[in-house]
Amino acid sequence: MNPHIAIAGGGASGLLLATALIDAGAAVTIVEPRETLGAGVAYSTACPLHLLNAPASNMSAIHGEPTHLLRWLAERGENSDGTRFIQRSLYGIYLRSLADDTARTAGSRLRHVRSTVSDVVLTEDGVLVDAGSETFAADALIVAVGNAEPAPWPRVDADALGSHRYFQSAWADGAMVPRDPAETVVVLGTGLTAIDAVLGLRDNGHAGPIVMVSRRGLLPHEHRVFDSPPPAAPEAANVRDLIKALRLEARRPSSTRGWRGAIDALRAQTNARWTSLELDDQRRFVRHVLPYWNVHRHRAAPQVAKAVTELIAAGTLRMVTGRTGEIRVTPEALHVSVRRTGQTETDVIAAGRVINCSGPENDVTKLPNPLIRRLLERGYLVAHPLQIGAVVDLDGALVAADGTPSRRLYAIGPVRFGTLIETTAIPEIREQAQSLAVTLTETATLKEASG
Ligand SMILES: Cc1cc2nc3c(=O)[nH]c(=O)nc-3n(C[C@H](O)[C@H](O)[C@H](O)COP(=O)(O)OP(=O)(O)OC[C@H]3O[C@@H](n4cnc5c(N)ncnc54)[C@H](O)[C@@H]3O)c2cc1C
Repeated sequence: MNPHIAIAGGGASGLLLATALIDAGAAVTIVEPRETLGAGVAYSTACPLHLLNAPASNMSAIHGEPTHLLRWLAERGENSDGTRFIQRSLYGIYLRSLADDTARTAGSRLRHVRSTVSDVVLTEDGVLVDAGSETFAADALIVAVGNAEPAPWPRVDADALGSHRYFQSAWADGAMVPRDPAETVVVLGTGLTAIDAVLGLRDNGHAGPIVMVSRRGLLPHEHRVFDSPPPAAPEAANVRDLIKALRLEARRPSSTRGWRGAIDALRAQTNARWTSLELDDQRRFVRHVLPYWNVHRHRAAPQVAKAVTELIAAGTLRMVTGRTGEIRVTPEALHVSVRRTGQTETDVIAAGRVINCSGPENDVTKLPNPLIRRLLERGYLVAHPLQIGAVVDLDGALVAADGTPSRRLYAIGPVRFGTLIETTAIPEIREQAQSLAVTLTETATLKEASG
């Protein structure tokens, strides 16, 4: 009999997996509080300045159909040039149309429960999923809950946290909608989400100064699109050698793509290299390389990078490199103290609003998500030893506290971060969706699990 698979989370990961499972003959229940499936956090933005951070030719949602998105764009009468960085809102419509197609193909085999999974229990022949409004049985549960909220910013006092001026995330309601278009805004962080916040504010009519603050002041680099194929991936036995090899490749006079080519060439091998590292070498990478890796690997669309450069040149966007101290609130403003790198004095910036744009919290033991909490409490999931994500096996199965990979509980997409380094973007998610669908519909896997 075809399996019934439950999926917690109906963002891009949940939808791509559901589509692959339906094609493979399974029945699927997706539990997702949002009304529509697919768009999730990344593609629900309506801001026209929020673009994909990859060219359209890389963003097909379907494994084995690299031109699926380009064909969809052409059918809608949109420019289907694969080198374009399209609006994320348009990509969200693409995913919603995929959700409609999948629902049509599936008929009664696909169900969307508008709720949150708050618990799961392993039973003799499957799982019992607590989705709040209902509890139902399935053969397996896939955790597709996406990127976590940002880690709380240190030293924000309780009154400031509770104030209408402080936003714990760029995606919190109203974070990019200025009350006063002239107010100073402090954006905590300088990554892609911080840039989204800056552009979102501008698009909503904010005209006042914006100050981006981070410890290293690293802005994501700009994408370039090349015709030539990427070079061979640099050889290296450890992290130190890899960084040396990347630097050499970047300086090689015959290298047409420079460091971008070397980073892109590594992509298909990044996970294999990461998993083969000793824990100490992984620790070294996380501590010393990851912030630099992120700004070289996760690049901004050329138009986005240009917009940021122009705002900086115009003086309306400032970058401050340093450590923030306390963030306090008065009736008039939030006061952010910052000690700039290399200085001993502390400046205080008075801001009408502060938006926390630090990256997602990677320590799963600190996540408020009820499903993750229960998985940890039940010993069905364990944190990665470096406090970056969870431990899964090569099939994406959750590895339990006793070290055994589950045959009933799996993860997909950003939830695999930690075990994998390259797992949050669509190209990796669509491959994971395909291989997980094959694993789950091979009757042997689930039969074995019952034995
Ligand atoms: C702002 C932003 C921009 C990005 N841009 C790109 C890009 O241009 N190209 C690219 O390849 N990648 C991009 N990414 C990477 C992104 O991780 C993936 O493309 C993809 O959107 C991840 O989808 P997801 O379903 O795993 O996560 P999400 O989109 O976060 O979806 C997870 C869903 O799970 C639901 N959920 C959470 N907890 C529960 C629960 N307990 N029970 C039930 N449901 C739950 C949430 O409501 C949510 O809808 C971007 C990411 C972000 C955050």
